[in-house]
Amino acid sequence: MKTSTAVAASLLTMASAVGAQDLPKPASTLSRAVATAVNMQPAIPRPEQDAAAAEKLDAFVDATGQRPNIVIFIVDDMGYGDPGAFGGGGMIGAATPNMDQLAAEGLKLTSTYSQYTCTPTRAAIYTGRLPARTGLIRPILAGDTITVNPWEGELSVAGLLSDAGYHTMLVGKWHIGETEGMRPHDVGFDEFYGFYKAQKEYTQDVYQMRFPDLALDPDKLERYHAIGSNNDLIYGLKDGTTETVETIDSLQDMAEGDRKLRDYTLTRIEELATGDKPFLISHSFMKVHADNFPSEEFKGTSASKFPYRDNMVEVDAYIGDIVAKLDAVGELENTFVFVTSDNGPQMDSWPDSGYTPFRGAKGTTWEGGVRVPGIAYWKGMIAPGRVSDGLFDLMDLFNTSLALAGVTPDVLPDTSYFDGIDQSSFLLMDDGESKREQVYNWLGAQLAAMRMREYKAHLLVSLAQEKFLYIDMATVVPTGLAPWLFNLYIDPKEEYPVGHRMNAWTASLGAELKAHAATFKAFPPKDLGL
Ligand code: CA
Repeated sequence: MKTSTAVAASLLTMASAVGAQDLPKPASTLSRAVATAVNMQPAIPRPEQDAAAAEKLDAFVDATGQRPNIVIFIVDDMGYGDPGAFGGGGMIGAATPNMDQLAAEGLKLTSTYSQYTCTPTRAAIYTGRLPARTGLIRPILAGDTITVNPWEGELSVAGLLSDAGYHTMLVGKWHIGETEGMRPHDVGFDEFYGFYKAQKEYTQDVYQMRFPDLALDPDKLERYHAIGSNNDLIYGLKDGTTETVETIDSLQDMAEGDRKLRDYTLTRIEELATGDKPFLISHSFMKVHADNFPSEEFKGTSASKFPYRDNMVEVDAYIGDIVAKLDAVGELENTFVFVTSDNGPQMDSWPDSGYTPFRGAKGTTWEGGVRVPGIAYWKGMIAPGRVSDGLFDLMDLFNTSLALAGVTPDVLPDTSYFDGIDQSSFLLMDDGESKREQVYNWLGAQLAAMRMREYKAHLLVSLAQEKFLYIDMATVVPTGLAPWLFNLYIDPKEEYPVGHRMNAWTASLGAELKAHAATFKAFPPKDLGL
């Protein structure tokens, strides 16, 4: 296994092998990002920061004799403003002391970006590639027919780390396919304990209050079940073992789902701590995706008493339990922890929904749809009390995890384009700065917007035709002669465009968007028929 110093060296080798003259130049003078390979997202060079971080990581590996564990918490549909550390918490009737503590004792990232909805974000985290490239452009729903296995030709961070000596495990929600060949344990995870789909899809056939036309109609129920979608809590192993732990057939079964996931992760951490392999755990909550049902232990425990808020309290408590377990088994200082959400709140299901201070919601590329909480925590390795508005795309977790695991980027095929950036030096150095210059926001197969520095330029906008109905009654409209251009420092809610009349960079931002789109010509995307 190569050290992280070797990672930096091999990047340089890669750059010189290609030849600087072949590498794409920045599309505008506004961009500080530099290409190191034709198939990699250009990044802001920070050679001193990178070298210092590599040294810090090498010292960790030398001292402990192993690579760090990685634990990524993905809360489903949690809004930017839900955790107290991001402005919510007690203020909105659901205190989140555990997340707040991780943020206070780690690095709070205020410009973290997801994709616009569940499946695309998860696919992006695990592949380091934009959903528009892999074809996973929207959630896969019960009844969907996919013509091509999206995982064909893809590498997952779980598979790469497994090959590098990690034990890799997904606990909780998957949502990137449930047929053989597409399941977590088929695509790199050594172990899976969880659910193939989103919370709502398990309970809609038994939720008589919200879905009476289905749940109370035997004929429709029979037809619905004929779709054959899996309704089980599943245990799977890389060798193909796939077992049903429990079939979900009541609201209470689903209400207790996250408790079972928590218990499983606690047990496995205890066991894995006695082994000699580092581990990657993606602990992906089913909550707080609608429809939310409170578990017995947490019913009414939030100040608000609403099921969504009770479930925020539950999720926060479980994050605390899992971090406490890492500490109890002596692994906390060996573990990089990241907490985030896979998209903005689903306002369509209000009041069973989260909170964002921004415009828009899940299903859109407004800030409300794609800006999510981000907390990076690693006791002893990430300085407490840091806050940064440096850009961080959740896809960066792919490259960053590889770097932490000591896996060099030369394992990535040069026939595929990779959109993630190794942000390990940003996260690990006390004064670390982001290496990401642009975040591209895709709406399905269409490039809708881009954040670059504090500017956000929209080519396509989702306009809700009723307040909050950003999915069920929105129209997507191309913008006019100029992109809708907002300065997020003076207008974080994207209410009043500065446009070309107040911004000198309109043409530059347009050129950046065009250059990004051009990478799809050089590296054609897959079409799954979604
Ligand atoms: Ca989601």
